[in-house]
Amino acid sequence: MDDLEQIYQEMILDHYKHPRNAELLADDPVLADEENPMCGDRIQLTCQINDEQIEAVRYKISGCAVSRASASMMSEALQGLPIEEANDLIEQFVAAMRGERELDPDWHEDLMALSGVRKFPLRVKCATLAWHGMAKALSERKA
Ligand code: ZN
Repeated sequence: MDDLEQIYQEMILDHYKHPRNAELLADDPVLADEENPMCGDRIQLTCQINDEQIEAVRYKISGCAVSRASASMMSEALQGLPIEEANDLIEQFVAAMRGERELDPDWHEDLMALSGVRKFPLRVKCATLAWHGMAKALSERKA
């Protein structure tokens, strides 16, 4: 393992052990409930939107370290973004995880940390679960 991989591994572990925004409240309407049956990961999401801008992303997740870390990273990456930009980032991130496009060097380093997952096709679904869920939550919210 080289230094960069080591750093990435530590970033994933940090999000796994200290998940950000993982606090779905009883009054939060669940806008998306997604599962990755390949691994047994499940996420429920909601978001608060004000003036077409995402003010808060909240979720409850059970599953593996990759799915949990990715959900935590997703919540940080998308909070504060206009809906349109968030949808773009979701699309680009999912495509990058599937190896359909390159990672964007301008992305937050947390997202780069997930790039190692691309070598493991079964893990790609773990890494993209929260992102698919969020895309669904955003479309539910707009509807
Ligand atoms: Zn998983």
